[in-house]
Amino acid sequence: MENIFKTLKHHFGYTGFRLNQEEIINTVLAKKDAVVLMPTGGGKSICYQLPALLQHGVTIVVSPLIALMKDQVDALRLNGVKAAYLNSTLSSGEQQHIFQQLQSNQLKLLYVAPERLVGDARFIQFLKQVEISLFAIDEAHCISQWGHDFRPEYLVLGELKKQFPGVPLIALTATADALTKKDIIAKLALTEYTLFENSFNRPNIFYYVRPKLNYFDNLVSYLKAKTGDSGIIYCLSRAGTETLAGKLNAAGFRAEAYHAGLDKSVREDRQDRFLRDEIRIMVATIAFGMGINKSNVRFVVHADLPKNIEGYYQETGRAGRDGLQSDAILYYGVGDLQKLKSFAVVDGNPEQTKILLKKLDKMAAFSEARSCRRQFLLKYFNEEAPDFCGSCDVCLSNFEKVDATIEAQKILSGVSRLQQRFGVNYLIDFLRGSTTVKPEHQLLKTYGVGRDIGKEQWRIYILDLLHLGFLVKSEDEYPVLKLTEKSWAILKGEQRVQLVKSIVEKKDSGKKETTRLRMQPVLLEELKQVRNAQARKENVPNDLIFTDVTLIELATYLPMNLNDLGKISGFGNVKVGKYGAAFLSVVKSFCKENHLTSPMGLKDNGKKKHAGEPKMGDSKQYSLQLFRQGRNPAQIAAMREISLNTVESHLAYFIRIGELDIHLLVPKEKVKRILQEAQSMEDNRLAPLKERLGDDYSYAEIRAALNFWLHLKETGVDI
Ligand code: ADP
Ligand code: ZN
Repeated sequence: MENIFKTLKHHFGYTGFRLNQEEIINTVLAKKDAVVLMPTGGGKSICYQLPALLQHGVTIVVSPLIALMKDQVDALRLNGVKAAYLNSTLSSGEQQHIFQQLQSNQLKLLYVAPERLVGDARFIQFLKQVEISLFAIDEAHCISQWGHDFRPEYLVLGELKKQFPGVPLIALTATADALTKKDIIAKLALTEYTLFENSFNRPNIFYYVRPKLNYFDNLVSYLKAKTGDSGIIYCLSRAGTETLAGKLNAAGFRAEAYHAGLDKSVREDRQDRFLRDEIRIMVATIAFGMGINKSNVRFVVHADLPKNIEGYYQETGRAGRDGLQSDAILYYGVGDLQKLKSFAVVDGNPEQTKILLKKLDKMAAFSEARSCRRQFLLKYFNEEAPDFCGSCDVCLSNFEKVDATIEAQKILSGVSRLQQRFGVNYLIDFLRGSTTVKPEHQLLKTYGVGRDIGKEQWRIYILDLLHLGFLVKSEDEYPVLKLTEKSWAILKGEQRVQLVKSIVEKKDSGKKETTRLRMQPVLLEELKQVRNAQARKENVPNDLIFTDVTLIELATYLPMNLNDLGKISGFGNVKVGKYGAAFLSVVKSFCKENHLTSPMGLKDNGKKKHAGEPKMGDSKQYSLQLFRQGRNPAQIAAMREISLNTVESHLAYFIRIGELDIHLLVPKEKVKRILQEAQSMEDNRLAPLKERLGDDYSYAEIRAALNFWLHLKETGVDI
């Protein structure tokens, strides 16, 4: 037990485990097989790297991306781990050297391309002479035809269990639907295994959808606010990337285009410079991204509509691998939707066309949703999710509603007069009296009754009617608007209706750092310079020296000696020895110049099991910190191995003292209702309130709302 934590700190510099890592490691150490589904950035590597270090023999890691093998091995070596890779890029002399190291038991990890294990009977025979502690199959979905990235050479891995029956095997992937998951298990011939399935939610990614109309100005002001951060902007076409990169350069940003039409050398150069943070913004087609392991991508923007949710989620998933808050912004325009629809028609293949169009419609539904975007995405991947995440544009927006009964009547009657045979755009043109509508429609009664209102406003009203079920869209290739049973009450004037008039995005409160600890941004920049220079010197990506997470901790906790430095996440023993002095001197002179003292005491004293845990008094603070990093209460509880109840009471405390916005935890309407009930009741204890409010309200929500009430009272706000 102790050993696991010691080794984690010693080699990787981490002070605690992420969700499921510890359980997975213990499973493997008990010589049992494991199947691990974890989202990008969840921390899969540690799950086999740590067992490799804790056991005799060598761990064989199968990985499909030759380009990434070298990085992984370099990263391990920088942490003092004996690791190597074997693939076609090595000379035969280099390969011989590795065989010798294997024979003399000098390697802890060996990365191999799957083709190594294919049809190379000699290599298998050789491995049988070697003590193998574990087989780790990375990107395990590549073994399945159902996955999106099938690689036939992976199929031979099915032999491993037969050839090496005593050696445990761990299969890991970040993308697997139910079918793929089953297939992975079957193809690897696993019979007794433990399945670890983390949520695919990426809590640190904030999702936004914004109108595409005149989006460039919006993009520029977003990028300006993000000084220094790097990100990817996806465009649909090669030409699109060039144009946008040009415009961004003209606006003063360090941006470059990337697409498959560029020379290989140009692409490689740009990719390298992006990894080194020299190019800030990569404007790319989806050709860019696979195999890019850059942990500090702070934003992924889609300037054009993606073709399906799968692609969108994968692309946005490239943001925030380091766990820090990141944004996914999609600029949505109906023009894009129409263009993509015409592309989706596959000649002579109506089946395929239908599938593509359906996927596209889902993408449109996501973009037009008035409900939590995160919930939409997770449901799409068959995962349950609450209807409020507090970190998407919908959850973060105020919807201004007005009585729009007359407008609703105009819309519904227009749909009816057009015989429910037309889509949104045509209806708007019809209402606004455009001369582009068919002559026979120009004679209809409702033609032109909506000239007084702009196109976009009509669209917002129509979307809201759809959202509220007063209208539906057909499932056809070209969806048309149809009335529903609910429509008639409005048409007959029996019911009035409130519709959204405008949507105002609130500033996300994740940015409001109200914790006692302050990060020093100027120092952070200095530390980045030191790191980047070191990375250039060693000719490795910046991340391999230290990720931004480590530098942010340095700039927050301001360690004053090597001992304190060792408590910073990412500083394992080897790195303390190799880089410690250089980073320490930067921190120390910064503190001296600015008369700062180190708040290091707030960090753990290093003796506890979970070294990242602060002392008792700071336990609440730590929960808040994790929450601000985007983790939900259940995840925080799991990470810290404390009860959910405890985490919720920590967060309630910060609501009470006004440091945490209650709406990040409880939807507005619910807060309102809880407070109403609480005010009307004598007895404000939890249980009676819960009884009154029923199953839709959890204890946690009620407690949070009561604390919010206390906060209002204490600050003298009347409700
Ligand atoms: P994945 O392969 O699941 O995308 P990685 O193994 O690359 O994730 O880990 C993602 C990031 O999280 C890396 O920067 C890694 O160093 C960091 N990380 C992983 N486990 C921990 C941990 N227990 N504590 C702190 N950082 C961690
Ligand atoms: Zn949300």
